[in-house]
Amino acid sequence: MKSQMTRRELIRWAGMGAAGFAFSHGLNASRLLGAAQTGKKPNFVIVFADDMGYGDLGCYGHPTIRTPNLDRMAAEGQRWTDFYVGASVCTPSRAALLTGRLPIRSGMCDDSRRVLFPDSAGGLPQGEVTIAEGLKEQGYTSACIGKWHLGHLPQYLPTNNGFDYYFGLPYSNDMDRVGGPQGREAFWNPKVEYWNVPLMRNEQIVERPADQNTLTKRYTEEAVRFIERSKDRPFFLYLAHTMVHVPLFVSDGFRGKSSRGLYGDAVEEIDWSVGRILETLRREGLAENTFVVFTSDNGPWLPYDQHGGSAGLLREGKGCTFEGGMREPCIMWWPGTVRPAVIHDLGATMDLYTTILKLAGGEPPTDRVVDGVDLRPVLFGEGSSPRDAVFYYRGTKLYAVRIGPYKAHFITQSGYGGDKPVQHDPPLLYHLGHDPSEKYDVAKDHPDVIAAIAKVVEQHRSELTPGEGQLARRIMKNP
Ligand code: MG
Repeated sequence: MKSQMTRRELIRWAGMGAAGFAFSHGLNASRLLGAAQTGKKPNFVIVFADDMGYGDLGCYGHPTIRTPNLDRMAAEGQRWTDFYVGASVCTPSRAALLTGRLPIRSGMCDDSRRVLFPDSAGGLPQGEVTIAEGLKEQGYTSACIGKWHLGHLPQYLPTNNGFDYYFGLPYSNDMDRVGGPQGREAFWNPKVEYWNVPLMRNEQIVERPADQNTLTKRYTEEAVRFIERSKDRPFFLYLAHTMVHVPLFVSDGFRGKSSRGLYGDAVEEIDWSVGRILETLRREGLAENTFVVFTSDNGPWLPYDQHGGSAGLLREGKGCTFEGGMREPCIMWWPGTVRPAVIHDLGATMDLYTTILKLAGGEPPTDRVVDGVDLRPVLFGEGSSPRDAVFYYRGTKLYAVRIGPYKAHFITQSGYGGDKPVQHDPPLLYHLGHDPSEKYDVAKDHPDVIAAIAKVVEQHRSELTPGEGQLARRIMKNP
């Protein structure tokens, strides 16, 4: 290898570039043309699970959790193996999805308060352009159903961020703790009254504490109703489940039914929910004009033992920059348009932003840096993903970078271990193709790769303007 590799050369050398994705089937061009000829804009549905790990679905290898609807969705669509979120915890990850930008740019990250809390004064800055706002310009109606977690004060709610309708919890379901046994004990046998979380419709609290047992079911009913009433115009449904974030709750029909305990019950109810959404799209004749994506906001919350999920063979989970924290299951479905395949290209939630706006006939904003790339070539079976790098931030600090199959860790720290960050110079280097579990540091064999990644980091930093931090500010109790 040459000592001065460029980013492109590095990827090509690693065999992950355009040659890495040759298709044996032609694109179903007639279907695409057909959709274009009808002049109908496609609908979009993003189903966002909470804290679900890479290894928690049947189609991602879980041995006991039954997910027949997601498995079928994967067989009919694309199952992505190397798909990433923008951060390893809820708030910044959701900001990345909805704005197409790394949270460092919007200010939706912080090193001490890693997410928003009920006493937070901040939220998604008005200057950010959400997917819903971008789609509104294209004539779309949008609903946010489920967990928001981008600011609970009125100016930050979904209805002030491009969504026409909102039904859900404004933040995490383990907040507003008011009762039950101390510490984690309350989670092992959770009761609704231990957490005084509000359930909102648009800007009003309609139930408090929210009856979390029926949340997945009620979110699903709301989602189905939104699809039914929006079917005559283009729509965007953002269904962000509260589950499977602890405390775990399920409705009666699912309690005690899975072989994986309460966690498995909750995953199986989400699978049922996905089945209901897809069935509704089929019944209404919308399936072939609707792009549906299923993924999760971050990896499994491992300190919660059997109430946390599994990252499968990936290292660690929620809260850290090892793969288990930020690589997620991701299934994309659009019968007749998304070419069924298992995709090993790089993708990220921020790319959904760019891809969806382009599919709707719009464009991402040009007055700012947008980190999302256009995944349409991969969806249509026409080419490979333009994404060639993944930046792993923890709060405001860049901990690791992936280029092609190589990932360099400049800093490591466990998700919730209470340990201090450890700097690495030279960085730890893992080959994720050979070593998806990040066990074997190969840095000493590849100084040229480390030099190439360092150049990518240098360029990234030179173009970076951090946004004003939103997560540290608190509501003043006695102003
Ligand atoms: Mg989460």
